[in-house]
This record gives sequence, C-alpha cells and structure tokens, in this order.
Amino acid sequence: MTDAALPVTERAVDEFVTDYLESLGATIRKEGRRWTVSIPDETATELSLNDTVIHLTADSEEADDDAVPLAPGSDLFERLVDDATERAPLGSVSLTGDDIEFDTPDWVTGDAVEVTDQQFTPYYDRNALCVLFHVGIETVSEYQRDLLRAVAVDLADHEPRPKLAQTCLDLSGRNGTSLAETGHTIEHDELVEAISACREMVEGAIDSEAQEIREKATRAASVEIEEYRQYLRQQQTELEDETQRLADRVDELSETIDAASEREERLERLRKRKEFRRELADLRDELDDIRDSLDRDLPERRATIRDRHALTIRIRPVTATVITYERGDLDISVRDGSRSATLTCDYAVGAGMLNQPTCEQCGAVLDGQNPIVLSDAISIGRQCCGEANHPPSL
Ligand SMILES: [Zn+2]
Repeated sequence: MTDAALPVTERAVDEFVTDYLESLGATIRKEGRRWTVSIPDETATELSLNDTVIHLTADSEEADDDAVPLAPGSDLFERLVDDATERAPLGSVSLTGDDIEFDTPDWVTGDAVEVTDQQFTPYYDRNALCVLFHVGIETVSEYQRDLLRAVAVDLADHEPRPKLAQTCLDLSGRNGTSLAETGHTIEHDELVEAISACREMVEGAIDSEAQEIREKATRAASVEIEEYRQYLRQQQTELEDETQRLADRVDELSETIDAASEREERLERLRKRKEFRRELADLRDELDDIRDSLDRDLPERRATIRDRHALTIRIRPVTATVITYERGDLDISVRDGSRSATLTCDYAVGAGMLNQPTCEQCGAVLDGQNPIVLSDAISIGRQCCGEANHPPSL
C-alpha cells in the first residue's frame, strides 16, 4: 500500500453505494449481499430503482439471475459513479477518540514491554477532506480495470492523511455503525483546491500501476504486429516457392515442345504452357500485393494496433466527505514487569500518531527497528542504548 492512496475493494463499493443511495433518499433492505433498493420518484436522478434487487459481487457473471449485478465495471456501478460524479455529494462526519480503538504502537514489540493503558486527551479539532475517486483504466482492445480509491488531505495544509481515509472506510464498513453527521460545509474554492490536492495523490499512486499496464499493452501490441508481419512473410515465402515451381514447369514444358513428334501432342503442350503462364502471372500479382503490404500496409497497421492498445485513464471524484477529527495527546503507559513508564505522543484520531517518541538517553527515534525498553527510571531504545550496548541492571 502506498502512503498516498488506498486501493479499495468490495468494502468501498458497499460503502460508496450505501452512502450514495442514502443521499438520494433511497430505502435499502439488506439481506447479506442482496439488497432491495427503492429510490423515491421525486429524487432528481437518472437512476431508477424500484424494489430492485441488486446483488453485490466481485464479478457480474456470478450474480443471481433475478438480481441486477453490482460489481466494479457493471452497468449499475458505472451509472452510480456517473450519477455521483454529476451530483458530487458532500458529506460530513466527525471522528472522535470514542470512535476508534488505539493500535499498539510500532515501537512496542516482543514480550518484554507491554502497553497497559492509552489515554487520549483532545485539544482541538482539525478538518480533512476525504475524497472517493473512481479510476477507470482501459485500452480500447481488451483491458479494463475499475478502482475506487479513497484519499484524504488535511484542509488546512493539504498534508496527506492516508490513514484517515482508511479509518473512515473501516468505520463505515462496520455493521450498522455510522459516524456522526456534522453538517459541516466548506467554501467552494476550498473544496476545489482540496479535491485537486487529492487528485494529485491518486494520480501519483496509480502512476506505477498505469505504467505497468501501459508496458503490458505495448508488449501486446508488439506481439500482434509481429504476428501480422510473420503472417505476411510466410505468405510471401509460400507464394515465392509456388511461383518458382510453376516457372520450372513452364521451362520443362518449353524444352519438350520442340521434341514432340505428333502435332496434337505439341499443341497440347503449348496449350498447357499458356495455362501455366497465366497462373504464373496471377501468382506474381499476388506476390506483388504481399510485398506492397509489407512495405506500405505494415506501418499503417502498426499505428492502428498501437492505437487500439493505447491506455485511457479516467479519474473522477465521486463523493467527498469533510472529516472533523480530534487532535491532542495520547498518553501511552507501558510496563515490563517491575518497571513502568508513560509516554506522550501527538495524536490525531483516525490519522494516528504524528510523531515518534525518542530514546531518553541518546535521542534516537523509537520505532519497529529500535523498540522501547525500560531501564531504571527511563525509557530507551533496545537498538541504540539497550541490552546490546549496556546490559540492563537487575
Ligand atoms: Zn538511545
């Protein structure tokens, strides 16, 4: 997973569809992956769903016969994305310390030290914008991929908040839980700027993937061009052989014509030679055509094949949500049996820890490689100042 964007799978489809349909005032009765959906007539939307059973699947082919398939790339999915893009609904939620569970910090590893308590004290609220993008990658010929990607940026400084996007998806995906709506709105210009910052993140994130697909498409085009070239070459060789064989027979006949004693036999051989010469002329015409194709048509055909394999990438924002999230201090209490300590980190709900604690002896950063150990009254890094360098006193 890249830092900037999160590939989103079925859960994102679920969440996007639920949120979007609800924003249209639809009623949704969910029975597992089969949802019965009705959108009120008065809703201004092109979508028409009236007690329609939709089946959420990974692949349209696997949908129940009596249901409308909803899978990435399915008609209904495309229509929902189109509709959402047009309406661009803006939601707003608030994320507080009560909504989440605190993960064990990465600088606590192994059994030596355990976390005994985590206390969050919020000091102020920050706003972020989380945008769900639909990314369509396709070549005219064959390849098509639909992705939903959620990215988030802080509204004040446009700093990426990748974990925040994931947290919101995770929370919305939890059965029946929805975050508190805040009704928070933002200025149009601010929204446009934040969406464009998010789009850049998505573009950056799909860049390597697009590159990979582009290379695949180029290889496919090269193979197709080579196959066509080989086909022409083979035709050419076969025709050349055939022409040669016929020309040899014409020569043989010519030698035997004068040797024929009977007039009738002579006429018959002359007639035969004429027939062969006609055939030979036809073959030579055909051969000229093939040579023409190799000289003239092949470059043209090459361009057509390249066009057919060219890649189109469409990135469209489908929904945007203003997330108000709390920032403050997270006090993490740890213990190693006899000793204990409490460390304080700058923490943003949903986005996680914003700084790493440091070794109290040398100032090195504590992380997964340099986890915390307790030494007398201070917490130090195992790698920088721990057992390896100074065996702890008992
Ligand atoms: Zn240290």
